[in-house]
Amino acid sequence: MPKDRPELPPVEELLTAAVTAVGGVERPGQVKMAQAVRDAIESEEHLAVQAGTGTGKSLAYLVPAIRHAAGSGEAVVVSTATIALQRQLVDRDLPRLADALEGLLPHRPEFAILKGRRNYLCRHKMADGMPEDEDDQLFDPREVSATGRMVQRIQEWANETETGDRDEIVPGVSDQAWRQFSVTARECLGAQRCPSGADCFAELARERAGEADVVVTNHALLAIDAMEDFAVLPEHDVVVVDEAHELVDRVTSVVTGELSESTVSLAVRRAGRLIEQGVADRLQEAGEDLRALLAVAPPGRVDTLPRSLGMTLALVRDAAFACITALGPRNKDKDDPENAGLRKAAFTTLDDVHDTAQRMLDAFRPAGRGDEAGDDAEDSEGVANGGTNGGGTNPGAADARSEEVHRAEVVWLEEGRGRVPPTLRVAPLSVGGMLRDKLFGDRTVVLTSATLALGGSFDSLSRQWGLRAGEWTGLDVGSPFDHPRRGILYVATHLPQPGRDGLPEAYVDEIAELIEAAGGRTLGLFSSMRAAKAATEALRERLDVPLLCQGDDSTSQLVKQFAGDPATCLFGTLSLWQGVDVPGPSLTLVIIDRIPFPRPDDPLASARQRHVAATGGNGFMAVAATHAALLLAQGAGRLLRSMDDRGVVAVLDPRLATARYSGFLLNSLPPFWRTTDPAKVRDALRRLTAGS
Ligand code: SF4
Repeated sequence: MPKDRPELPPVEELLTAAVTAVGGVERPGQVKMAQAVRDAIESEEHLAVQAGTGTGKSLAYLVPAIRHAAGSGEAVVVSTATIALQRQLVDRDLPRLADALEGLLPHRPEFAILKGRRNYLCRHKMADGMPEDEDDQLFDPREVSATGRMVQRIQEWANETETGDRDEIVPGVSDQAWRQFSVTARECLGAQRCPSGADCFAELARERAGEADVVVTNHALLAIDAMEDFAVLPEHDVVVVDEAHELVDRVTSVVTGELSESTVSLAVRRAGRLIEQGVADRLQEAGEDLRALLAVAPPGRVDTLPRSLGMTLALVRDAAFACITALGPRNKDKDDPENAGLRKAAFTTLDDVHDTAQRMLDAFRPAGRGDEAGDDAEDSEGVANGGTNGGGTNPGAADARSEEVHRAEVVWLEEGRGRVPPTLRVAPLSVGGMLRDKLFGDRTVVLTSATLALGGSFDSLSRQWGLRAGEWTGLDVGSPFDHPRRGILYVATHLPQPGRDGLPEAYVDEIAELIEAAGGRTLGLFSSMRAAKAATEALRERLDVPLLCQGDDSTSQLVKQFAGDPATCLFGTLSLWQGVDVPGPSLTLVIIDRIPFPRPDDPLASARQRHVAATGGNGFMAVAATHAALLLAQGAGRLLRSMDDRGVVAVLDPRLATARYSGFLLNSLPPFWRTTDPAKVRDALRRLTAGS
């Protein structure tokens, strides 16, 4: 890798220029982080940096990244988990940074945003060059329906847009409407063959990215670029993964396969236009068998493969293969340009159905066995819905443990909802090996977030990323906030442990007293939507302050209302745990109802937990406690968002102070002053409210 040119100004000088230009204050943690990122790039060693809110971490990695790009001529990729951060980087941080550094570097830093192909309008599909699937056309576009109106909006917007980027459409449109005008990377004909290739929005975005010093993307596209044989991102030797605590979940989503009556029917409809009816009918029948089977199976993890399911999966796989064969050679498209789009779409869905059915069958085969598909199926007709404590009590436990050690993937059934039929899913137990080989293998990766050190150590997350000791360094640059003086962590040890039967009455009383003391100003983070709604309902009758609940309106609208009126409270669940950034007195109290362990019936978490236990580790600590620590730290992190903020994080679940794992969880939280005394906390809240 070419090294930075000696004539480039030092990273410290560039950072000072950048911070001055944005009107900020240089902080020791920010300088330390920028130097560490520079060192990691130069030594080609992976780096994990925990940088608390207020550090100014975007500038701390963007400055050395731009410096490297200017010196080496190679792009640096910055990956984020959320659109909000992407927007912040592209609309705010990078333009200001380019202005600030322009005179100090050989050229003005260029930047670009790049998303997956399905995020851009496909001109070829728009021009009717590709089939619309009947099932996707649930409406007449002229109909005055919500989806019909969205389709009309997309069509109007398509005449004006310069980027074709879906995120430009405000308000947003549903996936169902957007699918009418977009293709996946695998469905795309390729710019060379596509009649609209020269004007393709996705291709134009790639071109712009190819010329940029910094390319902003998301974790999903980063994962696809690393895993697939073809490159979707421009050539790069350095990646910065921001919001790195989300990396494993996002990568897992990318590699999760699904199979249902709908996916099989879509493949039948696409292939049916091009092949003999009898061959397509065979796949249709296999899909109907699958539908009948899944309709009566209990949702949850599939621990052993029932014979009937094994046989049906094998039927689906073989019927899909017959359709693929009937479609003929894949390169036939050049002789048949009219049908190129149809054939590409048919191949893509058939390949998906075939490969996913095979993958599901393989998931039940211990490593090293090459039996015919379906032979591993057991005589049991039930689809087992596993709990969290795998193995150990039944006569086949030793065998089960042995299989668990070798198992690489987990299969589960998700129940149908509305028009979505019951769906089988398959995902890897771990993406660490994949990340290690594909992402960390041939580039330098800097991972950063406000939350990486769980239980005081980076080990939990580095294991999930597949990194081994000696391959990376960890750095915690701390936080500019004075946590012990500005925040209180209150654990309500006098309350009962949370049960399975909804929110205990004592919790509702406690929440009411805390909110009264705070004069509103409360963000309620609940572990389930059911609990958030129950608390809202119970407290709306008791409290004088306005109480908003997630789902009442769009989350961004609710957060706006909450931020705009200090008396208002906002209750909700997962997206609020990580997505709320409200500095100032509107957010003085964060209430967390229970430790956010994964649900016991979460198929992936429970299978991962069982797998760790079967391989001699502590499954609970490695999976459930790690998950909870990450969310708790994110939730508690909502409290202090600026140097002037003060307040209380109240955790109602007494286990945070009393359970054997509480030390690990507490060590994952910011160093607030701690108490278990409710009277002290209410006094503190009253004083804070009076003083603001
Ligand atoms: S190149 Fe692909 S994405 Fe672009 S217009 Fe053609 S088919 Fe659509």
